[in-house]
Amino acid sequence: MSVLVVGSVAFDSVETPFGAVDDVLGGSAVYFSHAARYFSPVRLVGVVGDDFPEEHVQRLKDMNVDTTGLVRMPGKTFRWKGRYDDSMDSRETVDVQLNVLGGFRPDVPESFRATPYIFLANSSPALQRHVLAQMHSPKLAVCDTMNIWLDNERDELVRLLREVDGLVINNAEAVQFTGETNLVAAGNEITAIGPRIVVVKKGSNGSLLFIDGVCHPLPAYPTTEVNDPTGAGDSFAGVMMGYLAAADDLSTQTIKRAVLFGTVMASFNIEDFSMRRYDTLTREEIDRRAEELIELARF
Ligand code: AMP
Repeated sequence: MSVLVVGSVAFDSVETPFGAVDDVLGGSAVYFSHAARYFSPVRLVGVVGDDFPEEHVQRLKDMNVDTTGLVRMPGKTFRWKGRYDDSMDSRETVDVQLNVLGGFRPDVPESFRATPYIFLANSSPALQRHVLAQMHSPKLAVCDTMNIWLDNERDELVRLLREVDGLVINNAEAVQFTGETNLVAAGNEITAIGPRIVVVKKGSNGSLLFIDGVCHPLPAYPTTEVNDPTGAGDSFAGVMMGYLAAADDLSTQTIKRAVLFGTVMASFNIEDFSMRRYDTLTREEIDRRAEELIELARF
């Protein structure tokens, strides 16, 4: 089964204690696609400006990503700049230039509308709902969000949560959204709004998967090789969705494994800047690390 992602395509500038890069390939939809494609065919909807090199588009096509939904508009591509502190678990957004993303109202190509698995990467909940409304009854629709929408478009976000099957959110956002400092309470509160699946990501502390009234704690892969956490959340989501699309099964056990594989992909993503780690990463390495994590988490 295919998976559809609607999200940003970006030039990122990133500073961490271990290095810095300027105007490198980034964006939620790009990270998602790089990760998901190890598991299932990917369809991408996004926007770039006329400064976006064709070789980046070709790179996606070479990875079996269908870029029919990638629109080129006059103007500059979205740019994001972030800086990480020593803990690498929190970051500061230094600069955002929306550029062509600012006026983009995604139109899902007709040939994509029946895609059974869909991920609405971070964007305004109103736009995420606009996308969802174009889809023909997906089997699984999952969304991401971020701090600005939790305060500024809260009502719309609640409406979205009633329409989707899943949400991936980080711990700080879950606390901000619910006002609950206990993450188990926060996760339960969000599932009570509507989504069957809620994943609260805790960075290097792993994640909590809430499904059908049960909270499943999952560890992160223990690693010291952390150079750039950018895109970890999107690659996590990419594999979670790609795994589910490949399995075409939404049982609790399969969802738990999908989250475990997502965790593993996040651990690869953070080893290097931008998409560099994906240049050499093989499916065998992913499977080996997943087996290792399963073994580590067994009691
Ligand atoms: P993550 O680290 O998984 O949260 O994803 C980081 C990616 O999200 C970067 O490559 C950014 O280009 C992209 N990004 C950051 N802020 C935004 C935003 N406001 N809208 C869309 N994409 C964003």
